[in-house]
Amino acid sequence: MPGTMPDVTDYYPQSNRFFRMNIHEYQAKEILKQYGVAVPAGIAVFTVDEAVKAAEKLKADGSGLFVVKAQIHAGGRGKGRTIKSNAKGVILARSVEEVKQAAESLLGDVLVTIQTGEEGKLVQRLYITDGVDIEKEYYVGVTLDRAKGLNVIMVSTEGGVEIEKVAEETPEKIVKEWIVPGQPVQPNQARRLAFALGLSGDQFKKGVKFIQALYKAFDATDASIFEINPLVVTKSGDVSALDAKINFDDNALYRHPELAELRDETEENPLELEAGKFNLNYIKLDGNVGCMVNGAGLAMATMDIIKLAGGQPANFLDVGGGANVETVKNGFNIILKDPNVKAILINIFGGIVRCDRVANGIVEAVKDPEILSKLDGVPIIVRLQGTNAVEAKEIIDNSGLNVISAVLLKEAAEAVTKAIA
Ligand code: GDP
Ligand code: MN
Repeated sequence: MPGTMPDVTDYYPQSNRFFRMNIHEYQAKEILKQYGVAVPAGIAVFTVDEAVKAAEKLKADGSGLFVVKAQIHAGGRGKGRTIKSNAKGVILARSVEEVKQAAESLLGDVLVTIQTGEEGKLVQRLYITDGVDIEKEYYVGVTLDRAKGLNVIMVSTEGGVEIEKVAEETPEKIVKEWIVPGQPVQPNQARRLAFALGLSGDQFKKGVKFIQALYKAFDATDASIFEINPLVVTKSGDVSALDAKINFDDNALYRHPELAELRDETEENPLELEAGKFNLNYIKLDGNVGCMVNGAGLAMATMDIIKLAGGQPANFLDVGGGANVETVKNGFNIILKDPNVKAILINIFGGIVRCDRVANGIVEAVKDPEILSKLDGVPIIVRLQGTNAVEAKEIIDNSGLNVISAVLLKEAAEAVTKAIA
């Protein structure tokens, strides 16, 4: 169907980390501020003492209302709860004392939200902000529309709620404008969007300015997602970003060393972090079939075919072009750290690299006593296609190891599902 080119995140919601670097809300708001996007005043802190000091500082010119916000790489904090103290991840506080209590209840506790999974995320940082009186909440998002090859700004009057739900149930409530990457949003586009939000008078002007500044920030930082949910009009008539989620395109980070520094490794999956150190492109998923593939496209196709055969992929793993003994060993080491893995499917296309070399690499890796003990009987199914595929199959078949060779991808996937049944 034209216009519905699926994104990998459609199939694997856990994999929304693909090629994206996430940052904290307070970091996102610092960036927005630099581009002239209105955000409430706020101070990031790591300790209760710092939280108290931040509140005292904000009090000097603020409203007397504070918000204490857990900084984790996940949304839904307002409706989430911490495991020990049962505190919400976003707490309104009316005094410095209440800020202190909120900070005590959040720091060091684990916050579980709809986006964290049931294991939750440890709260190590807080953002103390100047609380605002909300008149109305809106939604504004900027991302890449892959089907059109254009950036898209989306707005909705249904702010503060899950935008996915709005998109599904009342798609007409999301209004979009598309922009050629590298070009600014046109004033008439920003006006159409502000109008769609029902803004008028002074708020309309502020809304237009907000959207223009927001888009400029998105474009200039090579971001893949900007999400302001909610954007609010305050009782005093200001337009401001109450929440901010930003993801950057990993592949463009080399152009922004100052943004790359915002990375918080403690928020990332430890296996993914380790894989990155071996130059392996690994994403952990929830299934039990470990995958080792060369090329991102083939890796996605492999996961799809495992699912079609009735299995569930345990990971995405692209070992890159030249799959040698070292990369195969590193791949095994990462895949086998996931206790859910019950079988491993290796799918290598020998284009740049000859299949017989890969086959020898696999055999050598599997014979390594360390790998062998970690495998502990986990069956390996190998599908090698491309240059010298026939010789490669012979090498696997004659290796005497617990490795099954397959010629077709479908065959391989079925062998895997059978192995775990
Ligand atoms: P999320 O739950 O992780 O998306 O965190 P948000 O930053 O969006 O905060 C959740 C909700 O808390 C918002 O939708 C608001 O309703 C509320 N909230 C956040 N900041 C303020 C504030 O300054 N004043 C008021 N009155 N409510 C706030
Ligand atoms: Mn939000």
